[in-house]
Amino acid sequence: MSAFSNYNFAGQKVLIRVDFNVPLDKQSFAITDDTRMRAAVPTIKKILSDGGSVILMSHLGRPKDGPEEKSSMKHIIGHLSELLGGTTVLFANDCIGEQAYLTASMMRPGEVLLLENLRFYKEEEKGDVKFAEKLAKLGDVWVNDAFGTAHRAHASTAVIAQFFPAEKRLFGLLMEGEVSSAEKVLHKAEKPFTAIIGGAKVSDKILIIENLLERATDIIIGGGMAYTFMKAQGGTIGNSLCEEDRIQTALDILKKAEAKGVCIHLPSDSLIADKFAADAQTSMSPSNHIPDGWMGLDIGPNACEQFANVIKRSKTILWNGPMGVFEMEKFQHGTKVVATAVAAATQTGAFSLVGGGDSVAAVNQFGFADKVSYVSTGGGAMLEYFEGKVLPGIAAVKG
Ligand code: AMP
Repeated sequence: MSAFSNYNFAGQKVLIRVDFNVPLDKQSFAITDDTRMRAAVPTIKKILSDGGSVILMSHLGRPKDGPEEKSSMKHIIGHLSELLGGTTVLFANDCIGEQAYLTASMMRPGEVLLLENLRFYKEEEKGDVKFAEKLAKLGDVWVNDAFGTAHRAHASTAVIAQFFPAEKRLFGLLMEGEVSSAEKVLHKAEKPFTAIIGGAKVSDKILIIENLLERATDIIIGGGMAYTFMKAQGGTIGNSLCEEDRIQTALDILKKAEAKGVCIHLPSDSLIADKFAADAQTSMSPSNHIPDGWMGLDIGPNACEQFANVIKRSKTILWNGPMGVFEMEKFQHGTKVVATAVAAATQTGAFSLVGGGDSVAAVNQFGFADKVSYVSTGGGAMLEYFEGKVLPGIAAVKG
């Protein structure tokens, strides 16, 4: 059983760093996607059912200069109460200061207090120790359940840890799930281990590919970044996405992979288009012979088959980044085929982890979220974890 599940929170005031940075409608401030809030509910409920009280702190939006209406946490009180089955949510219009302390001190078991946006203070992102100490005074136990900000050494995500003894700083259930899934892939991967890396740019994914060269047996490279690899190997790629200054990097990656015995799979063919638009004319082409004036916007049928075969014989799968411009219907097929193959492999016993903004959006959009083993909530944090970096929000809890 996990440390969090084992803990009895009865009578404790539990200060939880959550990631309630949800998108809000610009006019009405209504929440347009509550995924991040829903993800924290099991942690909150466990504490409340133990007889603890919960103090929630988060950031919202990117306030530049102190308090501002559009980034106030008050916009989410109503929905939070609904998600907690009608529990009253108290609100402090400052995350530190008299009102917050007074409300926190009078809380009874089963009550929930939401603090105003942490980033109304510049000290939060600066990781200011005094500010962290002021936050720490609000609770007896600190729980970090904000994987989305785990790669930041901010006051509430990491610096605050020093004000709680080791046994009173814990991961919440969301964070435990994220960390154990990532660890499973990074350190306990059953082989064959296939990493599927897609998306637009080689430059964004170099570090993750380099780290995976040490661990994976197969790396599938799709999406726009595949064309830099094609060009590096002497192919012609028309107007496809290409990072000229990464051609050498691509060659280095191929060379390293060969030396390490890691199999790199590039798409043999592509669905090409005469413009970057939903109504473009399309055709098929070998990925290394794309005619002038055309660009590869999705992987082709042979590549789909090639990739699906590799995925289906894998025991561990990590997927970050789409295979094509999946936002446009015409160029979704490759990403859908990969999602289907990942789901099929999962059903026959593989462990599959999907992470990073766009691949998560794709599995959600295509209805595959519950057919993979784990969907990570943290885009940047997940990438940095897989690049092999130490995440301050995780290190702070582990001590
Ligand atoms: P990333 O954030 O790096 O994972 O990139 C995701 C973006 O890459 C999505 O918006 C896709 O539309 C885009 N993308 C994927 N394949 C291609 C491609 N072949 N050409 C241009 N953009 C692409």
